[in-house]
Amino acid sequence: MLILLSDAFDPGLPEKLSRFGEVTDDKGRVSEAHVVLVRSKTKVTREYIDNATNLKLVIRGGVGLDNVDLDYAREKRIIVHNTADASSIAVAELAFALMIALPNHITKGDKSMHEGKWLKKELKRTELYGKTLGILGIGRIGSELAKRADAFGMKVLAYDPYVKSHDIAEMESDLKDLLNVSDYVSMHMPLTDETKGMVNKDLLKKFKDGAYLINTGRGKTIIEEDVVEALKSGKLAGFGNDVWYSDPPENTPLMDAPNVIMLPHIGASTKENLLRIGDIIEQLIDKYKDQLE
Ligand code: NAD
Repeated sequence: MLILLSDAFDPGLPEKLSRFGEVTDDKGRVSEAHVVLVRSKTKVTREYIDNATNLKLVIRGGVGLDNVDLDYAREKRIIVHNTADASSIAVAELAFALMIALPNHITKGDKSMHEGKWLKKELKRTELYGKTLGILGIGRIGSELAKRADAFGMKVLAYDPYVKSHDIAEMESDLKDLLNVSDYVSMHMPLTDETKGMVNKDLLKKFKDGAYLINTGRGKTIIEEDVVEALKSGKLAGFGNDVWYSDPPENTPLMDAPNVIMLPHIGASTKENLLRIGDIIEQLIDKYKDQLE
């Protein structure tokens, strides 16, 4: 069996998988591979599948399968899996890190010190304690964030048309009822026809004045130009962003917007998560090994 690691995984993974057969990261051998492991960079398109004539199993290390042509894979009887449960803690911690960094001016304060400036009077902080967090999409990651916000003494609301009740979050069936009271809004929905461009000019009008927006979900669920306008007008006090229209972004207006913290799509990139992803991949290959050659 040939296993192709097409994107970056834990460095210990090739050795772990060697008990199943040969493991390579040589993308030129895709036509020989029985198993292909991808994260978000490799696009398993129709052309990719046509080229991979031995392919029986694709595993996407992470959540979402938007980089795999699922219909064509099904037609070609290729099994496709993700490792959806592995990344929840990593992404929730990053969303929470952005919620802490923005009102505490962590990046602004650090940058000013490096520039030899002393902004003690200018940098006034606000606390998370007692504030309201509105979570859009209370699935695995949203739920992990809810636990952390609850521990910090925040009130937690959530909007998710597919979830009726939640242990920690109070569910709001009308999105605008959540938006007009939330000091923080954190996005954890998948990219679908429904969520594409959801945070736009009209929806931003419904936000509480001076709210903070966090997006570690998918870039295309916001209209970047509209978020920039809201930052410039002060409607939004800040924006913490990990996800983009493309990786890396091209000509994003966020580059010159005020009070933005930008990260290079590192939500899932913790050491611990890569180890968890590796363990799940090993279990999946073990489960399907008799069907792979
Ligand atoms: P999940 O499926 O457990 O949760 C997603 C939730 O969104 C579900 O409860 C679903 O009902 C809800 N939802 C769907 N449509 C909605 C809508 N229109 N409005 C409100 N809620 C809606 O998924 P998860 O594991 O929590 O991951 C959430 C998202 O996080 C993923 O889809 C992915 O886009 C993103 N993600 C980002 C990173 C990163 O590196 N930044 C890593 C992993 C996942």
